[in-house]
Amino acid sequence: MKKVHNFNAGPCVLPDQAIDKAIEALKDFEGTGMSVIEVSHRSKEWGKVMDECRSLWRELLDIPDTHEILFLGGGASLEFLLVAMNFLENKAGYLETGVWAKKALKEAKGIGNAYAVASSADRTYSYIPKNYEIPFDLDYFHITTNNTIYGTEISYDMDCPVPLIADMSSDIMSRPVDVSKYALIYGGAQKNVGPAGVAFAIVRKDALGKVTRYIPSMLDYRVHIDGGSMFNTPPVFPIFVMKETLKWLKEQGGVEAISKVNKEKAALLYAEIDRNRLFTGTAAKEDRSIMNVCFVMAEGYEYLQDEFMEFAKSKGMVGIKGHRSVGGFRASIYNACPLESVSALVDCMKEFENMKIK
Ligand SMILES: *Cc1c(COP(=O)(O)O)cnc(C)c1O
Repeated sequence: MKKVHNFNAGPCVLPDQAIDKAIEALKDFEGTGMSVIEVSHRSKEWGKVMDECRSLWRELLDIPDTHEILFLGGGASLEFLLVAMNFLENKAGYLETGVWAKKALKEAKGIGNAYAVASSADRTYSYIPKNYEIPFDLDYFHITTNNTIYGTEISYDMDCPVPLIADMSSDIMSRPVDVSKYALIYGGAQKNVGPAGVAFAIVRKDALGKVTRYIPSMLDYRVHIDGGSMFNTPPVFPIFVMKETLKWLKEQGGVEAISKVNKEKAALLYAEIDRNRLFTGTAAKEDRSIMNVCFVMAEGYEYLQDEFMEFAKSKGMVGIKGHRSVGGFRASIYNACPLESVSALVDCMKEFENMKIK
């Protein structure tokens, strides 16, 4: 049982079971008499962890043989650069849906010709741009499927006339994805699939090798494919915890099953935001994220913000402060955030309303 209701945006809540397994493995890994952080990454015991982790990814997301799953250091922020290094030859287009998308674009601009095809910066990224056209001459089109800071999400697999690349840092494994539609899906593990320190990349093998530049080994996806994600020493502990997190997910019934729970949790919280006179949601309703729920005090009640924060804290809510660029509150309700935590937050909002409005 969790001691608090953890709504942190990332690093964030992980399954108790994964943490317990990690503690065991830290003490004695697979009966080796050594900790998981003391064994050789070339040992057969460690090899089993890598294999199991890869097959869990394949199974849970139904990754086809055309794609390889990689575990890399450096986080999503380094993937921003790898994307451009490995895929940008002439021109790349980005959908600018937030600060993360903008950072991804910035890295690409440092490598070559990249620009925002559409942007929602005009309204603080509170919606997903619609009615834009993706030019046919792009090397790739880059999207951020879930905008962690603003609580907006592209929750379907779009048709794209050019190779589609997606930063899925904060909604990977939250819903089924048609991997075949993407040339690359990448992200940091620390939002939905594990602790910080490892990033994932699901890359379509035949989409690689189309650029003429020299790619330094550590930035070359092909090198990591050849090395089985062990071109150099991998982040062993984060990978171990990721494997246990995915095992837990499989036991929950997999991605399809968790996506139902995720929708239920999000619906519960959004219903309260829409009902409660003290609060209002910040994201366009049709683009609302099922992972990060952003809300502020309703007009006229702004003065209650700090008081609600304190009240929520006293009820065991952690990490509900909104990102500084949006303000207000953000509840991140990733896979491992239990329905009970969301219910507790909803109760807390109701109770606060009853205290303030007679
Ligand atoms: C958190 C986040 C990132 C940055 O991840 P790091 O692993 O810290 O580099 C990038 N994109 C999105 C959508 C995120 O939520």
